[in-house]
Amino acid sequence: MARDGTKMEIQEGTPSYSQLDIAPTVASILGLQLPNSDGRPIDQVAEWGCKNVALIIIDSLGYDLMKWLLPHLPNISVLMEEGMLLSAEAVSNHTTPAIASILSGLLPEHHKIMDKAGAKESSILSLPELASAAGLKSAVIMESNGAQVYSGLIEIANGIPDTIPPEEFDRQACRMTMEALLQRPRLLVSYFIGIDKSVHLGRGAKEIRTAAMLIDLCIGKILRAADPETLFILCGDHPIHAGLLKRDKGPYAVALILGKVRAKGAS
Ligand SMILES: [Zn+2]
Repeated sequence: MARDGTKMEIQEGTPSYSQLDIAPTVASILGLQLPNSDGRPIDQVAEWGCKNVALIIIDSLGYDLMKWLLPHLPNISVLMEEGMLLSAEAVSNHTTPAIASILSGLLPEHHKIMDKAGAKESSILSLPELASAAGLKSAVIMESNGAQVYSGLIEIANGIPDTIPPEEFDRQACRMTMEALLQRPRLLVSYFIGIDKSVHLGRGAKEIRTAAMLIDLCIGKILRAADPETLFILCGDHPIHAGLLKRDKGPYAVALILGKVRAKGAS
């Protein structure tokens, strides 16, 4: 398998990468030391000359779903043109433990964060806290419970209630992310819920696509606003885990997209 990182890469079958590789990759770009990790850095991004990271978690963005959605997602497609789409092994079928793994590089049985209460009580250090402790400004835009975990520990932690309609949640996430970017964080973590909520509301494929297109629109805005030396990492937390499109056999893989913002003025 080519791992030169210069072209879009689509993999089939069992994933060679894992969600656990995200945290070590981010840590290597930001020069942070992860206390422990079950993953390994994705080496080829080291050559891209990035100094900031924008990590965007898209709830329920399975790898197969991403391939189906891609023709409708022009902004993510642009990011991928000079980057990579990887299939990454999903470590959990639930949102909270999966996000904890993405942000810590630890397997669920090692971070032991299985629900929202566990996230608040945990002493595991995750990327935003490590970044802020190292003097790198960090921002987390997430569902309210998730954001609360970081309140007072990092520079920017803004929450959105997950009780509001999914379209409104994602619009707010977009607005808050754009506001956070004005403060030029070295690490930005944003979370979009629309695809997952559409699934749980029993909506069909067309509505799921519409939710994804709204997220893509926002990612376009973020791409244009971000510093040119930003590594973008987009990933799902788990494949679709409910409803008609539920993934019920392996490989359980999420989409993992790595790309760099195109320098302003470049064609
Ligand atoms: Zn989820």
